[in-house]
Amino acid sequence: MSDGPAVPSDDVFPDSGSVAIERHWHEECGVFGIFPHPDASHLTYLGLHALQHRGQESAGIVTTDGERLRSRLAMGLVQDVFDGNTLDELKGHGAIGHVRYSTTGSSTPDNIQPFFGNYAGGHIALAHNGNLINADQLKHELEARGALFRGTSDTEVILYLAIQSKQSSATDRIIEALGQVKGAYSLVVMTDESLIAVRDPHGFRPLVLGKVKDAYVVASETCAFRLVDADYVREVEPGEVIEITRDGLKSYFPWGKSTPTARCIFEYVYFARPDSLIYQRNVYVVRREMGRILAREAPVAADVIVPVPDSGVPAAIGFSEVSGIPYQTGLIRSHYVGRTFIEPRDSIRNFGVRLKLSPVHEVLRGQRVVVVDDSIVRGTTSRKLVHLFRKAGAVEVHMRISSPPTIGSCYYGVDTPNREELIASKQSVDEIRDYLGADSLAYLSLDGMRDAAGNHDGYCDACFTGRYPVAVGEPSVAQLPLFTSHPELPVAPP
Ligand code: SF4
Repeated sequence: MSDGPAVPSDDVFPDSGSVAIERHWHEECGVFGIFPHPDASHLTYLGLHALQHRGQESAGIVTTDGERLRSRLAMGLVQDVFDGNTLDELKGHGAIGHVRYSTTGSSTPDNIQPFFGNYAGGHIALAHNGNLINADQLKHELEARGALFRGTSDTEVILYLAIQSKQSSATDRIIEALGQVKGAYSLVVMTDESLIAVRDPHGFRPLVLGKVKDAYVVASETCAFRLVDADYVREVEPGEVIEITRDGLKSYFPWGKSTPTARCIFEYVYFARPDSLIYQRNVYVVRREMGRILAREAPVAADVIVPVPDSGVPAAIGFSEVSGIPYQTGLIRSHYVGRTFIEPRDSIRNFGVRLKLSPVHEVLRGQRVVVVDDSIVRGTTSRKLVHLFRKAGAVEVHMRISSPPTIGSCYYGVDTPNREELIASKQSVDEIRDYLGADSLAYLSLDGMRDAAGNHDGYCDACFTGRYPVAVGEPSVAQLPLFTSHPELPVAPP
């Protein structure tokens, strides 16, 4: 056992009894849709409830009875936005819903989704998970033609493009609109007589199809299906457009099927709920495997494995299984300070997203501790944790991270810090270890992460590699020869 590196003084960490941590990454959004079902609004509420981890700033549901749309959109958590009366008033056999964390556009009521409007043949409503790279340019073009945007969200661009389309059917309008955008989108679209689900040709964000009795459901994650008793059918495939009417389901691939996919691998690391199937694999199983591989790649002599809750738990279990070192709950997360982090007020956001963790001294005192976390962003939280463990009596603190160093920002629907703020973009692993004050630090390798995900191809891992599948300045789908080639672009967008 060593004394370890010098422990920073309490002047640096005045709150050494517990630590207010800045949440790692801001989840993107969650979408849900159902058609046709007599209780569409209530089931959509439950689906959004299960998807709450993907966005906590606002929630919205739009329903159709075939003649008119009804909506309820508000800032706040799903359980605060809706109640029994509201849901009863949202009549109709079709519904789509959205939970939001703003990745593009500010956090205001004007940006709450679903967006909806009229076109010559009826109504259209739309909810989006992802991020469009060329939204600003398209918006300027639309405004020059007289469009008046409600908010600043990139999603509204898709709605306007669809409304202004000259195509006769709603599905063709959506396809034509999406041919002009580039970036990441998993969409649910509702018309008076159909539900349309679309996933961009790269498949950046997840989208799954299920069935409850005679109705189809579409959601960002399968955890939404459990709550509404729906059976999982399959993924909506990258580049697929699914049209659901009372006559059944039709599937189209308007841009071809040949695009190499770029599914977000970070869904496995952090975003998705452990009980979900993402890209047909269970998230808990993948995370535990990440921990198992990490234990083989970076073994360490220690007495106890402690996860950083909640996302570090499955990897810590895997690390413990392979290393034989006992797993213990050495950090307790208070679930009751979470309300501060979901409040979408600017004054709170300026302080970052904070959750409180407290050490269990009886687990840590006199022990060589391996701390397992899913990622390190700026390093400030990990540094506080190392200090916290030492103050609680740990004689050694070894950090093990169940993903590779994050060196780049995301442009495909995840709110990440700027590249310069990511500690691994400018410091070596040894330098980060010294900054944290840990006895050792090791990250999962890129190959290890890909092995755990079950495949080395078909994923976006740009925030770990700097190789961005779609760069700013690339042409839109409509301008490409149906994605028959996929240029490797080792260039980070500005
Ligand atoms: S850059 Fe990272 S977070 Fe963004 S889609 Fe790619 S893997 Fe996911």
